[in-house]
Amino acid sequence: MLIAVARENQTGEARVALVPELVPKLITAGYEVAVQPGAGRGAMISDEEYTAAGALVTEDALSSAGLVISVQPLDPDRLGQLTAGAATVSFFPATQRLTEVVIRRELQLTSFAMESVPRISRAQTMDALSSQALVAGYRAAIVAAGRLRKFFGLSMTAAGTVPPAQVVVLGAGVAGLQAIATCRRLGAVVKGYDVRTAAAEEIRSMGGVAIELGLPPLEGAGGYAREMTEERALQQRELLTPYIAAADALITTAAVPGRQAPLLVTAAMVEQMQLGSVVVDLAADSGGNVEGSVPGGVVQIGGAQVWGGAGVPSQMPGPASRLYAQNVVNVIMLMTGERGFAPDFSDEIVASMCITHAGEVRHQPTLTLIAQLEDASHE
Ligand code: NAD
Repeated sequence: MLIAVARENQTGEARVALVPELVPKLITAGYEVAVQPGAGRGAMISDEEYTAAGALVTEDALSSAGLVISVQPLDPDRLGQLTAGAATVSFFPATQRLTEVVIRRELQLTSFAMESVPRISRAQTMDALSSQALVAGYRAAIVAAGRLRKFFGLSMTAAGTVPPAQVVVLGAGVAGLQAIATCRRLGAVVKGYDVRTAAAEEIRSMGGVAIELGLPPLEGAGGYAREMTEERALQQRELLTPYIAAADALITTAAVPGRQAPLLVTAAMVEQMQLGSVVVDLAADSGGNVEGSVPGGVVQIGGAQVWGGAGVPSQMPGPASRLYAQNVVNVIMLMTGERGFAPDFSDEIVASMCITHAGEVRHQPTLTLIAQLEDASHE
């Protein structure tokens, strides 16, 4: 069976779903690999590198493929080029892309969504949300260090001592912990805060100081955060204000699964920061942790410049692609049986990832939304 690697065509997407190092692994497993020309260019990988690794580089890769892999979901035009029964593996936020789900159902495509890999230990090597959050956290620290017109690390020189930068990180999940670790490696003094109990120890293990506000933890299902009440949000903002006012750089990474990002920092709080301080809001494109942040833009609030993240992992396309590709190859290996590509739909990981298969929508939340939409159009 042929696995095709699609050239990404969404603006701002520089990643690629497969890197040359992993081509031999797929070939050894019995697959042929075809890559669309220029697919790796954004990630600084040439067509020649894919060819040298054993892949075929051809514009027609999609039409003869049994499986197409990409980072972003294929657009309807390209879905139309696939043969019925073909499968796709990519990020695919199905509940926000209902029209495309219906097209996939009608075309009898099997669609697997990378963001639906369940967060269980067996699936850790396939967890692209985590691998991409890791890249985003690293990038957030580098952006903060690059924009701050101060040293991150302490320097003791004959001409005097340069003090280290003070950094505050809000939200200590995968991205936040990586931001803390990276800022620490650059020598900054880092304080971190998260609403989950386990986070304090994790912050300390990265070399940060855990901020204790004395508020009750907000733990939800599966080790994730719960949404805050407005009263709790207000208290948290009040208690965090002095920490933020004293920070040279603030990095925010807080999210609640399936919801808009919580507003953790108001514009009034940012206004208390010193002239020249930097704010990096990684959650800017999911609603924003910082009031006034703009996804993909930099705005001035008081004396601080506020950088809003948009497609941040794609800003480090080399490592982001490498990690994503490894996640995808691990998914493919899970779905490979003795006779080649044969997803076992009774497997928890396969079942969770499956959006459409054999002319049906298999993802329950998406199915409910489509049923509502189709009912409404019949009325
Ligand atoms: P996420 O992207 O959903 O959120 C980022 C962080 O923001 C979380 O730590 C969350 O607690 C925090 N947050 C939410 N609301 C907040 C608020 N009001 N104030 C401050 N912080 C707030 O989280 P994530 O990075 O995906 O990780 C969440 C948890 O899941 C972690 O415990 C992580 O270790 C775990 N995890 C497990 C697996 C696995 O088992 N395969 C994989 C990845 C992550």
